[in-house]
Formats: sequence, structure tokens, C-alpha cells
Amino acid sequence: MTTAKPSLLVLYCGGTVGMRQDSRTSALQPQLKVDEVLAHAPMLTQEFKIKSTTVVVTDSTNIQPHHWTEVSEAIAKEYDRYDGFVILHGTDTMAYTASALSYALGDLGKPVVLTGAQVPPDLLGSDAVSNIVHACMTATMDFAEVCIVFGNSILRGNRSMKISESERNAFISPVFPELGSIRLQPELTYPGIRRRHGGSLNLKTTFGGNVVALKVVPGLDPKILDAIIDADIDGLILESFGPGGIPNQERSLLPGITRARKKGIPVLVSTQCIYGTTRMYLYEVGQRALKLGVVPTGDMTPEAAFVKLKWGLSQGMKTDDITRLFSKDIAGEVTIGG
Ligand code: ASP
Repeated sequence: MTTAKPSLLVLYCGGTVGMRQDSRTSALQPQLKVDEVLAHAPMLTQEFKIKSTTVVVTDSTNIQPHHWTEVSEAIAKEYDRYDGFVILHGTDTMAYTASALSYALGDLGKPVVLTGAQVPPDLLGSDAVSNIVHACMTATMDFAEVCIVFGNSILRGNRSMKISESERNAFISPVFPELGSIRLQPELTYPGIRRRHGGSLNLKTTFGGNVVALKVVPGLDPKILDAIIDADIDGLILESFGPGGIPNQERSLLPGITRARKKGIPVLVSTQCIYGTTRMYLYEVGQRALKLGVVPTGDMTPEAAFVKLKWGLSQGMKTDDITRLFSKDIAGEVTIGG
């Protein structure tokens, strides 16, 4: 008796996984077609029925929000025809794309797996084949999340951050458990993982608005904040100290926050502590900003918070709606009441 092979759609977005070294400059550039990338892993076709499509061939430095929309719509279009989806993508902005897909593909009932490589597939010691193979294997398993499979890890996409430009384990999920890991085979270990289901997608695939993420540093001149507020922005994220401290004495940023709020610009406060969460009520430097109506981002990664704000703005949300949006868990990206 023969059983049907699991079917996978591979969506190609470029990245090192499809790069070659330019002979003149020695710079890595996206050059391979998706078939050339997959040809490095011929064993895949023995196990899976694979179809591939190209969304964009670029260094992920050049990924734009419209590409997030295009990837999510490409998945939606073929959603019923495949058991799982694998996205080949550059690592530098992979966590942004993973976050975007997790919001865009509401009620997701199948695996969507992003992967890439630190070393191009033609070069000795490349991690491309093992990552692609593990991503494909993972994409046939019983779960329904947007995840990143890279090195030894299977991570919830909107909880992931790239933390190394060279290590094989380039991603971590600093405040949320790993969904699983790559041992002899991929293994799913997180008991709360969302499982496959047969329902249909609730698509909201657009991302919009000019969002600025400003890192608060000691001595930040409030004039810089003023200039940003006067620029054509729709949302501001202040990456604050510790649990959410905003300078309020010399070079206070509070007047700038008040101006932004009066202009109807939502102001979010995140923490620079990647293993932490915002607790703005803990210190006076947090409470005073909180009283001005800023929205703390909790334990979200900077990537997940930035993309969530653009997702909300593209749906026409104003400050009050954004406040409500950030008090909710949309796709497992935040711990509410944690
Ligand atoms: N610069 C590359 C990219 O993000 C890095 C990689 O793919 O690892 O496209």
C-alpha cells in the first residue's frame, strides 16, 4: 500500500540560502533560483510532494512590508492545497516577516515554517540543506503556528530574535519556551503548541503607517524626539530602559510624549531588556510616562511589537484602538497578565 506524500509549498524570498559570492567584489548576493536552491536537497522529493514559487529574490535587508502581504496572500491562495508551507528567507529580517505572517494569517490551521542559512548552499560547511530539510520535515507535523526552524531550534516566529550573524543557532526565543528542537528528527515539545485544524483563515494582510522605533539613550536630546514627532509619522515606539523608564528630569522626554499624544500619534514603550518585560508601574520614571497614556508592549520582541503596530495602523486604528490591540494576544506574541 502506498500512502500519499505530504505536500508542501515552498515560497522563496531570497536571503543567504539563495546567495553566491560575487567573483569581483566577493560580496554575497542573491543569485540562485528556487529550483537551484532545492536541488541541493534532492532527498526532499523522495519524502514530500513539493511545489515552489518565488515571491522575491533579495537580501532580506531589502524586504518591505508589501512583501509580508505578498507572502501571506500567496499562502492564502494555496492554503487548501498543501499540508504545510515553507518560506526560504534571509535571516536578518526573518523575525519581522514571521511576526507579520502570524498576524496576517488569523486562525491559521497548518504549519508555516520560515528558514534560511548563515552560509550559502554552494559553500563548504553550509547550513542551508540541513535547515531546509528540517523546515520541510517540521512543516508536515501536527501543529499550526508560524515558526522559525533554524539550527537546532523550532521557535514561535513572533517570539524570535536573530542574535548572531554567524552562529548556526542564530535565533532565540528569549521569553517564551521553544516550540521544539531538532534532535535526530524535529521534535515538538511545547505542550501549549497550537494544533492543526480544518477551519478557514481569517486574513488581514496589510501593514501600514510610518512607525519609528527610537532607542532611548542617556542624554537623548528631546529636540530629536520633537523632530520625529513633526515628521510624517503615525506611530512611535520608545525603546526604554529596564522595565519602562523614560527620562523625566534633565532632557525630559515627557513633553515630547504629550505633544505626540495631542497629535493623535500612538506612543508605545518597549524595554531594551530582551529577556524582560515592561513593568512601568514599578518606578516613578515609568509611572509618570504611563500617566501620559503611553502603551507598554509587555514581553513582546521589538520585531513583533513594531509589526503589530503597523498591522493595526493599516486597519485604520487610532490611539484608543491601538491601546486595545496591545492589550490583546493576537497570535501568541505576548503574555497578557504576566
Ligand atoms: N543578509 C542576509 C539576509 O538577510 C543574511 C542571511 O540570509 O543570513 O538576506
